Formats: sequence, C-alpha cells, structure tokens
Amino acid sequence: MTNLPETPEGAQQTETGSHGATLDRRSFLRSGGALGALALVGAPLRTLSVPAPARPRSGPTSGLAAAPLTAASTGLTADGLTVVAIVYTPDESGYWVVTSDGAVLPIDAPHFGDRPSLSEGEYVSALSPTPSGGGYWLFTTSGRVTGYGDALHYGDLTGVALAGPVVGAAALPSGEGYYMVGSDGGIFSFGAATYMGSVPQVLPGVALAQPVVGLVPTPSSDGYWLVAGDGGIFSFGAAGFYDSVPGVLPGVTLDEPVIGALASGQAYLMVASDGGIFNFGDSVFLGSRPGIPTEPGEIRSPVSAVTVTSDRSGYMMVDEVGETWGFGSAATPQSGNPSGPQARLTHTFIGKWPYTSLPLRWPSAEPIHYVLNNSFGPPEASQMVHDAVAEISSRTGLQFIFDGTTTEYVGHSSDDTPDHRESYQPSRYGDRWAPVWIGARPDNVATGTVGVAQPVLHANERVTTQIEVEIDGVLQTIAVGEPIFITGTVSYHWQPYYGAAALAELPAVILHELGHLVGLGHVNSVAELMYPSLTGVADFGQGDRLGLHLLGSTAAIPPAPGPREGIDITQFVSIASDEGTDSGPGGGELIPNPDGPDFYRPPRPTLPVCLGTRPR
Ligand SMILES: [Zn+2]
Repeated sequence: MTNLPETPEGAQQTETGSHGATLDRRSFLRSGGALGALALVGAPLRTLSVPAPARPRSGPTSGLAAAPLTAASTGLTADGLTVVAIVYTPDESGYWVVTSDGAVLPIDAPHFGDRPSLSEGEYVSALSPTPSGGGYWLFTTSGRVTGYGDALHYGDLTGVALAGPVVGAAALPSGEGYYMVGSDGGIFSFGAATYMGSVPQVLPGVALAQPVVGLVPTPSSDGYWLVAGDGGIFSFGAAGFYDSVPGVLPGVTLDEPVIGALASGQAYLMVASDGGIFNFGDSVFLGSRPGIPTEPGEIRSPVSAVTVTSDRSGYMMVDEVGETWGFGSAATPQSGNPSGPQARLTHTFIGKWPYTSLPLRWPSAEPIHYVLNNSFGPPEASQMVHDAVAEISSRTGLQFIFDGTTTEYVGHSSDDTPDHRESYQPSRYGDRWAPVWIGARPDNVATGTVGVAQPVLHANERVTTQIEVEIDGVLQTIAVGEPIFITGTVSYHWQPYYGAAALAELPAVILHELGHLVGLGHVNSVAELMYPSLTGVADFGQGDRLGLHLLGSTAAIPPAPGPREGIDITQFVSIASDEGTDSGPGGGELIPNPDGPDFYRPPRPTLPVCLGTRPR
C-alpha cells in the first residue's frame, strides 16, 4: 500500500505477491432478472402530491453540525446512525444486524458484545463471524478491529493514516486471519490472510471513478474480489473474473450505486442501493427489491447490505433503517411467526419522512419531558411507568425528564382514540410544548383496548428539504421541515376490580405504548412486544430492540421551534401511519424567508396507535 507511512504490526507487506488485477470487462449477465437494478425506482413520494425533488435522499439540511458522509464510506447519514451490515450466523439459523455506532443486534443469534469505543468520525463498517459461530470481529472505518467471543486479534491499523476509510472486511473461512479494504482499493491482510494485490498497486496514481465499496474473499481463500460503486470488479489471486456491471452495461451510469457484494457459488453477486441484484458467474438470481411491488404509503430506505446462504438458495438484504427483504429460501414470510434463516419482520415504524426515508423520531438534542396522572390506575403503576421510561431511554439513547404528576386528564372517545389534547398549554406547563402525558384511564371494557399511544408531530424548520411545488398554478421552490415528535399521550386502561393477572401484564402494556410513543409500529411476529395484542411477551424482543436502537439518534436533531400562528395554504403533505391510514389535517403555514425560498411548515398530524385487544 503506497499510502502507508509504515507497515503496521501484523500487516503483511503489500508490495509483494501480486497476481495483478483482471480488468477485462467483456461478457454478459447470466440472468435477465438481474437487470431489475437498472429500473428507475420512483422517488418515495407516494404520499405526497408534489413533484419529486431532484434529490430525495439528501436535501440540504441546516442546523446540523455533522457533515454528510458518503454512503460507501460509512453508511452514516447526517441524521444519525444507520444499519451497515447484515450477516448470517455460520449455521444460518439467525443473523446479526450492525449499526454504524457498532451496536450488534442479534436476530435469532447469540450476542457476544458490541459498541467498541470509537473516535469522532469513526464508524463501524463491517462484521465477520468466526467459523465456530462463537464470536465475531467488528471493523471500523479507521481500520481498527475488535474481537468478541472466540475471535482472536491478528492486528489492525490503529495509528495508521489511511488513504480512504475501511469500507469492507472479511475473515478467512478458517478464522485464522482477516482482510480489510479501503475505499481506494487498498488491501490490508492480517494473520493467515495472504496479500494478493490491491488497486493502488495495479493502477498507481489512478483515481477511481467510484470508490471501492466491498471485499469478497473466494470460498477457498485463494483470492479476492473488490467491487466498486459502479459495479466494477477487480479480481486478485485465483479469484476468477465473471464480468462486471460496466462490462455488461458499457457507458451506463447506475442511478443507484452498488453498495456491496458477496461470494455466491464460485462467483459473486452485487446489490445496489435500491435493492437491485446483479449476479455473475454461477451465482443465482432469486429476486430483487424493485421486483416487489410497493404497498400504498410504503416508503423504502436505501439498501445498505446483503447476506447470502452458503448453498445459494437464498439471500437477504437490509436497508439503512433495519428493514429486511429475503429472497429464495430467505423469503420474507407475509405472516405468522417465522424462524430460522428467513428474514422476518423485526420492526416497523409509525411513519417515515418521504424526502429522507428516515423514520419519524424525536429530536435528540433535548430531553423528552413527561407528566403522570395515575389517579385511575393501581398504585403500582406509577413505578411501572418510570421503569418502562428508563428502559426506553436505555434502548434508544433518548433522555427523559419526569416533570411530576399532573391533574390534566386525557380521556378517550368511543372508538378509543384519545380526546383532543392541546400540544401547547402555557397556563399549565409554561411557554413550551406540553410534556408527554402518561396516565391511566378507566378501561373501556366493551372494546377491550388495554392501551393507546399518540405521538404528535410538528415540522422542524431547522432540518429542511427544498422542493418544488405548484401553488396557485405557479411552480415555487420552498423548504419543507422534517416532521418530528414534540409531545404525545400514552395511556393504560384499568378497572379497580382487575386482579393480579392484569396487574402482572400491565408493564408490558406500558412498554408497548411507549414503543409507539418513540416511533415503533406494529409487527406480525408474536416474538415481539410490538405485536398488536397481548401474548404473554413481557419485554422487548430482538426485533423491537433493533427498531428502538435505530430510533435513537447519535447525531443531534434540533428541536422544533415553539408554536406560532399559522397561515393556511393547500395541504400537500400527509404521513402514512402503520395503521394504514393517512393522518394529517389540512393547513400548515408558509413562512416568508428573505434569505432563500419560503419555508412551508406542514400541519401537525397526530398518529393514533393502539394495542389491540386483550385475549378474553
Ligand atoms: Zn400497539
């Protein structure tokens, strides 16, 4: 590696043993279906009646200190942490999901530790398991390696100045060493891993058109492939060249870049950020995300990683917010309680903001205040609320502050939706958004609803996206504030004659409703607490925990400004809730901005979500 000031301890010399790169790009795709990745995917705007913004992913943001980083280098957006890896356990009975802060969320898999200490600007970019399944390594963008379980340390790049961040890594099948690759195509080998060449070596001084995004060792460890964002392949050692995206589509610029690749059979397959699959050689095409019709209101986030079964019978991809899509033997079941290697519906969000495809969340810059009215509940419930809030706080990283008990009461209508509650009550709570109201309500026995949660959204004009919209027949550029939660209500239902059994399940009710409050929707897996009915599950499941982790943000989201008088203009924004209904009243306000496009603040929708019925 020409960019290394010195050879780090454990790293093998990178100027020797070159077999050269194969740069032939002739041949063609084996499967026409793989071309699904080229289909232009409509911008995720089906809930909007405005023209698609030119850049739906990364509109200009203001008020954010963190600079956006390229997806290839870290997967961390300006708005917080994202999923960077999904990896089957060696026995393929489950999988791990890894977020950029180094959290490892196991789904039907063991957990050996996570969250290595990271420097500012350093993120975890890869996980590789040991062959026993008894541990794994985490690799960071700075080239640091942390082993957990039975994963041994073979050295890393601590203290080494890199030409580009480490974007991929893989352990040898024997577990006796590992490779890392930088975005410039530089290769670092440790332990028994053999250096067989790198991009800077074969193309000295050449700046790649697209950064390298992944490294794929051959199954027999006698070579490796590097894949770039344009789908280009560099093969080293005995790794065969089975063509590349530029080879089969010369002159075509991918609308959605390739974000990763995997060994499959004797060759490889690639996945693009829209979930399109390119398969080469004897790898098998089993389907792609663009081939799955979107559901009404569905907003898809960019795919960030893919994992494949060893027999090529299935693969599974994950997006930046942890949603998974399985194909072949990993096909995502539509219902029931799937197990094994299948991708399962681990979590959903109440809604996503279409322009960023990020889940609706609370601002992390300020704590969430809450008040309690347990006058209709059992005495034990007060402590249950505080305990549940503490658990939500620890799983999301969001901070909560208890403002004390309140005499305010939020009742409910005949359909179990909460009564209207003013989000701004200066006479009761001062000049700020009203705190979250948590309290007991007399159970509506007729419906059997045991709890209701209703977070309230408000547009945040400090985090905006510029869009073009037609107002009164004139196309105008305005800025739209990302809606964030500002307050909400959580209630648990109770009758004094309820007995010990109902009291025992009350903590699960409160936890479930608090899950809604911070942005989780329902799932159809009975293993999760966010299943819509009580099933005896008392605590958050693995999928719930993944969703909660992603709803906490490592980057500070500024809070929404306080309330002000609005100017009604035509409504054009609505947010789909997980209940399948659009909510969001008309109105909103257009705020003149002398420094740029006028700012549109959408109306404040509320998102009623309920915990089904108690089995009777
Ligand atoms: Zn619910």
